[in-house]
Amino acid sequence: MRLKSIRRSKKQKHFFFSDIRFIFAAFIKTTGILEELKAYKIEFMGLPNGKHTFSFDIGSEFFDCFAHSEIRHGDVHLDLHMEKEENMLVFDFNFHGWVEVSCDRCLDMYREPVDFERRIYIKFGEDHSEQADDIIVIPHTETYVDISHYVYEFLHLVLPLRRVHPDDSQGRSGCDPDMLARVKAHSAGNTDPSADKPLEGAPFEALKSLRFKKSN
Ligand SMILES: [Zn+2]
Repeated sequence: MRLKSIRRSKKQKHFFFSDIRFIFAAFIKTTGILEELKAYKIEFMGLPNGKHTFSFDIGSEFFDCFAHSEIRHGDVHLDLHMEKEENMLVFDFNFHGWVEVSCDRCLDMYREPVDFERRIYIKFGEDHSEQADDIIVIPHTETYVDISHYVYEFLHLVLPLRRVHPDDSQGRSGCDPDMLARVKAHSAGNTDPSADKPLEGAPFEALKSLRFKKSN
């Protein structure tokens, strides 16, 4: 019984060290995320009533904090104006820059320009709730507003439904010509020897396989 318990503890020790490594890696990652998002906590409690301005440069480090972000890269400048009133906070967000997204036509990445404004009202109440899309209630006891998830949502909601490379100054498509030629050839039933399957099924799936071949 004793021997068994020693053996087990050796085994557990092994797991223990690999667990430590895993926990440490997760800790480093979480700490990085917490550090990155810390700046987005607006501590309003100690500020006098009136106007306050904050500015942020939003890049890959910000999007890396969100596992499901459709945006991975970008360079967006945010000017945030906060009006602190007796019973309310008014936040005006001004975004300017670009984010990188995948083109629906050629699947290559391109820069989607970002230039828009949003306003939200923060009111005080008993608990956290949302009275409308732009009216948020937070408890009286709260001392800060974390704007990171508003920034994340605004940047995703503003993306166009149809995402394609913008045309150049002469009106020509900005898409990857090589990829477009391959798509066109497949659509016309051309059996390219480098392609082992003709285009069939969902066009988007076929495009994905083209993309994979190109990178090989
Ligand atoms: Zn494109």
